[in-house]
Amino acid sequence: MTFRLDPAAPECSTPLMKQFIQLKGQAEGAILFFRMGDFYELFGQDAVVAAPILGVTLTSRDKKSENPVPMAGIPFHSATAYLQKLLDAGHKVAIAEQILPEGMTADQIKGIVERKIVRVFTPAVQFELGESTRPRFLATLVPAPRNQFVLALLEPATGEIRISGPLGAREVLSEKRLLEIRHFLKFSDSIPHEVLRALESMDELLIEEIAENFVSSSDVVPLLQKQYGRLALPPLLDDPAPARALAFLLRYVLRTQGRETLPHLREPKPLHERDRLEVGPHTHTHLDTDALFRTIQKTATSMGARFLRSELEAPLRDLPALRERQESVRELSSVPRISEQIHAVLSKVYDLDRILGRVAAGLAHPRDTYALGSSLSAAFELCGPISRFRSQELLAIATALKSTGKVLLPLAERILKTQKPDAPTHTREGGIFERGADPGLDRLLDLTSQGERFLIELETREREATGISSLKVRYNRVFGYFIEISSANLKSVPAHYQRKQTMVGGERFFTEELKRFEEEILSASSRQKTLEAKLFQDLLEAIQAASEASKELSQAIAKLDAFGSLAFLAARPGWSFPEIDDSFEFRLRGSRHPVVEAAMKGDFVPNDMDLSPEEGRTILITGPNMGGKSTLMRQMALILLLGQIGAPVPASEARWGIFHSLYTRIGAQDAIAKGQSTFMVEMVELAHILHHADARSFVVLDEIGRGTSTYDGMSVAQAALEYLHANSAARIVFATHYHELTSLEDEIPGIRNAHMKVLDQDGSLTFLYEIAPGKSSKSFGIQVAELAGLPKSVVKKSWQILKRLESKAKEAAEKTPSPQLSLFEAAPVLEPKPDFLREELESIDVDLLRPIDALQILSRLRETHLKN
Ligand code: ATP
Repeated sequence: MTFRLDPAAPECSTPLMKQFIQLKGQAEGAILFFRMGDFYELFGQDAVVAAPILGVTLTSRDKKSENPVPMAGIPFHSATAYLQKLLDAGHKVAIAEQILPEGMTADQIKGIVERKIVRVFTPAVQFELGESTRPRFLATLVPAPRNQFVLALLEPATGEIRISGPLGAREVLSEKRLLEIRHFLKFSDSIPHEVLRALESMDELLIEEIAENFVSSSDVVPLLQKQYGRLALPPLLDDPAPARALAFLLRYVLRTQGRETLPHLREPKPLHERDRLEVGPHTHTHLDTDALFRTIQKTATSMGARFLRSELEAPLRDLPALRERQESVRELSSVPRISEQIHAVLSKVYDLDRILGRVAAGLAHPRDTYALGSSLSAAFELCGPISRFRSQELLAIATALKSTGKVLLPLAERILKTQKPDAPTHTREGGIFERGADPGLDRLLDLTSQGERFLIELETREREATGISSLKVRYNRVFGYFIEISSANLKSVPAHYQRKQTMVGGERFFTEELKRFEEEILSASSRQKTLEAKLFQDLLEAIQAASEASKELSQAIAKLDAFGSLAFLAARPGWSFPEIDDSFEFRLRGSRHPVVEAAMKGDFVPNDMDLSPEEGRTILITGPNMGGKSTLMRQMALILLLGQIGAPVPASEARWGIFHSLYTRIGAQDAIAKGQSTFMVEMVELAHILHHADARSFVVLDEIGRGTSTYDGMSVAQAALEYLHANSAARIVFATHYHELTSLEDEIPGIRNAHMKVLDQDGSLTFLYEIAPGKSSKSFGIQVAELAGLPKSVVKKSWQILKRLESKAKEAAEKTPSPQLSLFEAAPVLEPKPDFLREELESIDVDLLRPIDALQILSRLRETHLKN
């Protein structure tokens, strides 16, 4: 159902609906939370869209009207949870609050209360809401020369910024970080159609159209200069396209927050750093790196968790850097007691990045600043324990602590000394600062406490004077100060008492003295609130001024926390640090799948693997179904990822030559929503791997060619494997049910067969999950189907069909011993080895080649063809 508000219709003629329509016009496509007393009300289409997401009842405003306006309400005190639901579902939300004159409530206003949009939240632009270890990026794509694009990502809450180099449409599509975009600003019609379709297919992503002149070209540089506070912009912004892309994102966030700059934003970083392992487009999905993260993560802070996640997504590929990293993790793991101590201290540190974000956006409240103070002070407790470490990265962390301490320790001290630990979450009512924070505040506090004493004295005095022992001096928000007398004592009330209010059991009075006191005390308390709000503002400015140091400290803490988390892995039984060097080996002893093993608690069967050149760098694993092939292949890739972030790995021994890239093609990744069939997706991914793999790649291919006819699939699988093996010198693990491919072992040096062991006792299967040399005789597909509970008649029929097919194939082979592919017997006949170098040279379009591409191609060709 779609509901359209017609401003001319009678149901929209009330002042309230008129105000709603006007604010809705300013909300730029956002769902409007319209504050009415203790509720936020949603009207019209907003209510229709939001009610099912929020799980609230959809009602209507004027049921008698011909065309009642749909309406849904949520209590304002639990608005955050509702708001988060809408943001998670990919919506933008604007909050319209009631603007009341100082000291008045909505009921005291005659006519309609003024309302204003005070905050805008989007799936990416949110500063106050839920913590997350996954980035929520605001993104845009701007055209660059030669039909390419620059992708820019900004996470407002943590200030992270990533900017790509020029990318072709296909590269944009296979960009892993697309998955981290929550809100996309579309301002150019020239965005490739297929990219737009891919973004549209992502469920929780908001796509918002923005006018092309949202930032004019002459505004770009000044806007960025102002943000970075200097004339020379960060080098990544040298070209017009990246600068423009970032200017768009920046202005959008500034507008939603009503700010001129946001000091917590970091310097932009390249989308992918060069010294990082190149990971195939869907590799993290294939390997379920999320599950790996959850299994190994033992970070104490959100910064640490985010850092660890981003390391797993892009591990190291530079050997010296990796050695340094291993050194740090090893050092931490060698002193578990100290690592535990560091962990305990870090547990007291809040999410500094997000607090700084809220400070920068003007949204920080006193609890935030107190949390900042206590976090900073805790962070510097680390100086002692980490001073003993000697590895480079830990030394750098110690140095960062020392240098930032000069600025941040006094700040922490100031906060903790002046602020109350139980300060409120807003600045309206005072109660933020301790006595001693400011002499002016002390004077006002004295006045208030003298006032309390005065009231007690007054009560005693008046009781004595009137003889009414139950007389009470009290205060409430509506009536202020009063003397309360019960009905039984009304006859003793002195003449100078003036009546204020009659109640059920008595009356309330005031005296001139009490009135004077009230005026004094109320003005002191309002002066106190104003002064505290100002002092808080000063504190926020001091925090802003230290934001560079805080960012540096937060980065140092993130690293220390993440390294510590990795160090804990070393204590797990059967985990060890891999030896990583510049060889081309890959050897694992007693290796396990970290996630499956953790879930199975003990029964996981370890396996050895050797893909070193002298053993054969391509391994072809066959049958049976359910034998553990996919698990084994994934476990090798996960071990590689872990090792290259400097972590211990689930193997008793591991050693390999550093990898520069990891490519996988596992399982059926359906992308029908993106307009591609399953087989097409598989082939696109395979093409990417064939074009990019080289001698420093690890490639995992699981059941290539499954999504098409058997002959087509098998042909593609064989040709791709041959090409990859001949051309790339990569380490390759290839699992297949095409048993015909096992004959490649005899044809091509370096390709080895292996199979997963299974015990077949009279048709009853026992999977051993052990890899062994040689090919598997069968796939046991029908037995596994039977285990899975297929109807007996189907299983029986399957056996009959199989028998028939087998005998037909045999007959055909006997009749025509031609070099044709036969499914069950004949080994595939190899084509003469193609001249891959020639093919590769022919595929290059020299006219379109940039010098840098030419150099890269040359280096790749040397690497692969000279090593073969
Ligand atoms: P298919 O060819 O049918 O896709 P597969 O050979 O790839 O099967 P997996 O999916 O890897 O088999 O494994 C099947 C199940 O076997 C896993 O879900 C896991 O529970 C169990 N398994 C795999 N490897 C091991 C192991 N080493 N030790 C114990 N159990 C294992």
